[in-house]
Amino acid sequence: MAKSVVLVIEDEAKIVELIRVYLERYGYKVIAAADGQEGVRLARQQQPDLVLLDLNLPGIDGLDVCKTLRDESPIPIIMVTARDELEDRLVGLEMGADDYITKPFSPREMVARVRAVLRRASRDVGKKEKVSAGNLCIDFVRHEARCGNKMLSLSPTEFGILSVLAQNPGRVYSRLQLLDLVQGEAYEGYERTVDAHVKNLRQKLAAAAPGSVCHIATVRGVGYKFEVDGVE
Ligand code: CA
Repeated sequence: MAKSVVLVIEDEAKIVELIRVYLERYGYKVIAAADGQEGVRLARQQQPDLVLLDLNLPGIDGLDVCKTLRDESPIPIIMVTARDELEDRLVGLEMGADDYITKPFSPREMVARVRAVLRRASRDVGKKEKVSAGNLCIDFVRHEARCGNKMLSLSPTEFGILSVLAQNPGRVYSRLQLLDLVQGEAYEGYERTVDAHVKNLRQKLAAAAPGSVCHIATVRGVGYKFEVDGVE
């Protein structure tokens, strides 16, 4: 099997080396860029399987890099942020990043999250072929989701969350359950990332089919469920 390629966009050489050593130990191939411009160039040219993106970069800001990459492809993106950059993390998730890790991170956690995100991206292949709920249709073979016949442009995590919810309309899932089902593992403390993904999904569903019969409902104190109007 070909090695998965991880593009690391990070200006601190020491951190790049740390990431490289660990990811290579686990069988990944690492390519690196020291600034956003080079990162975008390498992403286009090398088509990596995943991007580890530092938010605090010289030149083009990490958030702009995230947005550029996401506009061009559904490539999984993990943001690397400092502890005090909560606002940035939320913006990043809204821009379609799949996950984030905070500095200083343990190399093991970093590897675990890379594996989880990659596994999730590849697991979307090979389960049920299609799911329909109301005017939403998810095609797993084509990796496409449509609402009211309009194609939704979703990040891998958004696609995963919508898939889980729409396969069981009316069933309530906690944030931790969603993370677990979508990523294969759930980390306490990261539940709130689900809120950002759900916010994106709601906007995209509403934009695709205004007044759609499908929506993601919040169940206070518990989590989320998928609802189709007129269906209990
Ligand atoms: Ca940096």
